[in-house]
Amino acid sequence: MNLARESIALLEQAASILCFEGTRHGLRDREWMALRFLTRANRFSRTPSALATYVGTTRGTASFIIGELERLGYLERKRSATDKRSVMLSVTQQGKKFLVRDPVNVLVEAIAGLDDEVKIRFRDTFRQVLDQSDTAEQQHHTDVCRRCIFLREERTASDSKATAGFSCRLFRSPIAEAEVDLLCTSFGHHRQ
Ligand code: SF4
Repeated sequence: MNLARESIALLEQAASILCFEGTRHGLRDREWMALRFLTRANRFSRTPSALATYVGTTRGTASFIIGELERLGYLERKRSATDKRSVMLSVTQQGKKFLVRDPVNVLVEAIAGLDDEVKIRFRDTFRQVLDQSDTAEQQHHTDVCRRCIFLREERTASDSKATAGFSCRLFRSPIAEAEVDLLCTSFGHHRQ
């Protein structure tokens, strides 16, 4: 028995829940992927170009996806507060509510039902596999700030209390504690 190939066969079948023909609850698979991503993306990645990178498509197709989600009231575009030429995408309350119908929820619930230890192993195994394929393909996948090579932790002591703050060396910007577990398409992992 080839365990690696057996795992891939199982993965392919699980992936068919994510990738499908036509629509489910009115959205195509890439539109679901975009809505899901934009709900968890940090402020640097809620842009049309980062969305195109994550979904693995052209800027033109990403614009089409954004237009569809906007038309349905699930997404809105705002001018960036720091750069008026850039657009920031934001999932509306209606979009967040609509995610209860996400076809992927069946997988989320199956994973949520596992023991905590198994869940952590499951997540870490996927991550390790992606890290290794990134090296082989000379690319990087999207991941959370907390693991990124560009994240800097700064500890300051004041009034005998130590506090930790974060900043991004790539974007030269502070990162709030609440942002360290959000997704970023510019993520860089530590090469071994
Ligand atoms: S630290 Fe890494 S993951 Fe976080 S914003 Fe910067 S580039 Fe993105």
